[in-house]
Amino acid sequence: MTTYESLLAAVTTDGDGREVLDPATGERIGTAPVVDTAAVGDAVARAAAAQPAWAALGHAERSALLHRAADAVEASSEALAEILSREQGKPLNGPNARFEVGACAAWLRVTADTPTPTQVVVDDGTDFAELHYRPIGVVGAITPWNWPMMIAIWQLAPALRMGNTVVAKPSQYTLLSGLALVEVLNTVLPADVLIAVPGSGELGAALVTDPAVGKIMFTGSTATGKKIIEASAGNVTRLTLELGGNDAGIVLPDVDPKAIAEQLFWGAFINTGQTCAALKRLYVHDDVYDAVCEALVDVAGAMPMGVGLDEANVLGPLQNAMQFDVVDRLVEAAKASGARVLLGGDPERTQPGHFYPATLVADIDPANALVVEEQFGPALPIIRYSDLDDAIALANGLDVGLGASVWSADRDRAREVAARIQAGTVWINSHGGVHPMIPFGGVKQSGYGLEFGAEGLKAVAVPQVVNG
Ligand code: NDP
Repeated sequence: MTTYESLLAAVTTDGDGREVLDPATGERIGTAPVVDTAAVGDAVARAAAAQPAWAALGHAERSALLHRAADAVEASSEALAEILSREQGKPLNGPNARFEVGACAAWLRVTADTPTPTQVVVDDGTDFAELHYRPIGVVGAITPWNWPMMIAIWQLAPALRMGNTVVAKPSQYTLLSGLALVEVLNTVLPADVLIAVPGSGELGAALVTDPAVGKIMFTGSTATGKKIIEASAGNVTRLTLELGGNDAGIVLPDVDPKAIAEQLFWGAFINTGQTCAALKRLYVHDDVYDAVCEALVDVAGAMPMGVGLDEANVLGPLQNAMQFDVVDRLVEAAKASGARVLLGGDPERTQPGHFYPATLVADIDPANALVVEEQFGPALPIIRYSDLDDAIALANGLDVGLGASVWSADRDRAREVAARIQAGTVWINSHGGVHPMIPFGGVKQSGYGLEFGAEGLKAVAVPQVVNG
């Protein structure tokens, strides 16, 4: 069994690198190795050399190896969760570190078992044509710091399944989590099928422009996504872009506020709000506004926040000072506008950790910065509406569209509202849940391309028609 100490030793260095500090305590965890852009080229060349043999194994063999990789993740799950909790800040419990590691194993298994998306497109006695999905070659996988293991698996599992090799670039803020995951997977995978290149954004940029990389899977901010679109033009590199969101939730007047409060809370505060498809602005009908606010305060006020390794906690610190400053600035802007802070909003500024308390802000102008900018943290604005058309117009009024949710006792009514919302996923009476067989992706500036299920496999392959 892998221990935290042995896994940490395997992914840290005594030499130069990046100091990794615990965002909850400021304590040093270790030094992560970093590489330069030349090493990206070397990694891509090695991955390209390994790819034909990996593709030649065939689907059954690769799927078996993905299952063995899931076994390895499960065998090291506590060590992985502890590295993740210490470095990212998320608690072990709640929908956090152990949950994330469990999702890695689950996604590997479902991806391994998803049927190959080959399709007979015409078979009419005269013509016969099949659509096959062939490996692309080398896939570059670039990940953010919020769910550093799970998002990496979302990118690399389908890519490997389809016969590609992968060069993975973890976020500079969560290098140990990215390296630890790859270390565990590589106890099972053949050499050079999966290579991690630890370091900052310039390594991602080098990966995007490398002519031997056929596809970039990217999850991160819209700003970086736009740079990747430009940089990929030279080689016409294929892209899947999962970019930022500012998900709206619309609560209809027929809900039972107490019954939905806990789901609303986790929709917004999962991973302490640092989640792409979290509920980031909540539009509540006037009839139930006060009752929903009250029920949310009761739930949010009872959720323990603190150091991730403490088994009692379900909310943690923000991962980095930059994100703390974003949340702080937006809540201060809301306060200055006269919005009513129902809970939180007043962080303890002298402590070493980046803790920002769970914050609920009511009676806020729909155009306030806390509503229209992505907070990516534990601060939820609650906007009052009386006309549903207005709420839908506000929900659709931003240039992003990752997820959204509609809350109602009447499922048919909620589905009618969902059809009018511009978002890649609209949940009904929940927010943010993902499933390895349900396609996931954004519209507008939240990106393009789908992940998960058969659509996700197609996205990491090149289509080829065999006609005749
Ligand atoms: P960033 O866009 O800053 O970084 C994402 C990754 O891209 C990091 O590994 C980063 O490296 C790398 N990168 C930076 N510059 C370049 C470049 N020019 N070319 C290629 N890669 C580059 O996002 P964050 O890590 O700050 O993540 C938070 C953001 O991501 C939020 O806005 C959030 O909404 C969004 N997000 C979206 C998700 C989705 O599924 N739609 C999921 C999770 C987050 P480094 O950090 O080392 O510099």
